[in-house]
Amino acid sequence: MSLTKQTQLIHDSQREPTYQSANQPLYYSSTYHQQQLGGATPYDYARSGNPNRTHLETKLAQLENGKHGFAFNSGIAAITAVFLTLQAGDHVILPDDVYGGTFRLTEQILAKFNITFTTVNAEDPKNIENAIQPNTALIYIETPSNPLFKITNIPAVIDIAQHHHIRVAVDNTFMTPLGQQPLDLGADIVIHSATKFLSGHSDVIAGAVITNDDDIADALYLIQNGTGTALSVYDSWTLTQHLKTLDVRFKQSVKSAKKINTFLAQHPAVSEVYYPGNSSTHLRQAHHGGAVLGFRLVDETKAQQFVDALSIPLVSVSLGGVETIVSHPNTMSHAAIPQHIREARGITFGLFRISVGLENIDDLILDLDIALKEVYDESLIKHPQAQSSSG
Ligand SMILES: *Cc1c(COP(=O)(O)O)cnc(C)c1O
Repeated sequence: MSLTKQTQLIHDSQREPTYQSANQPLYYSSTYHQQQLGGATPYDYARSGNPNRTHLETKLAQLENGKHGFAFNSGIAAITAVFLTLQAGDHVILPDDVYGGTFRLTEQILAKFNITFTTVNAEDPKNIENAIQPNTALIYIETPSNPLFKITNIPAVIDIAQHHHIRVAVDNTFMTPLGQQPLDLGADIVIHSATKFLSGHSDVIAGAVITNDDDIADALYLIQNGTGTALSVYDSWTLTQHLKTLDVRFKQSVKSAKKINTFLAQHPAVSEVYYPGNSSTHLRQAHHGGAVLGFRLVDETKAQQFVDALSIPLVSVSLGGVETIVSHPNTMSHAAIPQHIREARGITFGLFRISVGLENIDDLILDLDIALKEVYDESLIKHPQAQSSSG
């Protein structure tokens, strides 16, 4: 019987044999007794493998409809492992608004090893095609992007890549494997910061890589074991527990995010809303708009007053938690970008990102409304030319 992901996440094909416990036992052991010298054992040393990590990695692979799953000790460790499958001399194309930590990794660390990178506006697949060089070995995409929720057309990029025999990796953190399945669309590698929705409780830092390709899987295992960046036993156990509620958590957050999109779009204190659910390209490759959106205040000087007036959301970096999280890219995730570049790219002082949690939706909307009224300036509303024009 083929089970849905919702059910697979909760039940295991094999129950724990000794006591039939509801949850997997925690095998908190670094090493394993070897009866037969030179004999084969399922596990010998926990960095190389352990039952809790295997269990999690099986679930991660199932979730993405993939063959091989790998759990890492952060999303950025997962991304690093994917780049380490490359050789010195290889070239990579990536979006100009890629996750900041990914950009730092490429520019400040990997560039030292003679891997070269070209960043492009990935909204137009032609820009990717034009950046291809004879040594291009990987096209790396992240969609929707952050914090302006630009959409990359995954099938169009895969077409281009296959034509040139180049691999495609997709950072699928924002949509989760329940909202978007890049492997099904033909991607070679899918990456997650499992710190976000997969874990969902703002506790574990973790990453995942999933692939159908046996050679890529062998390379990833060598890197995971050889560089020691696998997820710990305890965190593997915790993440497996948190995954049991992923489906119900994400569904609820997506439902609330739709309502917040509608609410913000009609609010006079808001000039723009960025929500993947408004993009037809996105909706062709994903099941819905996800649970994270961006918006800009009409009066951009009032960002501090706005957060002061909020009482429910956490004001912080990160996303995908049970609690609603409001982020301020200008002073948080994108603060390291020089101010004029930040402003030119639309990451202005009045821009916020909201990751919708599991609170009651009426409470959330009321809280947002109170805070928005706090920064609502009658004079700006009466003179609409003061609003941003690029609606
Ligand atoms: C958070 C994040 C990462 C990095 O993951 P960590 O778990 O923080 O290392 C990578 N990509 C995206 C899209 C993210 O949001």
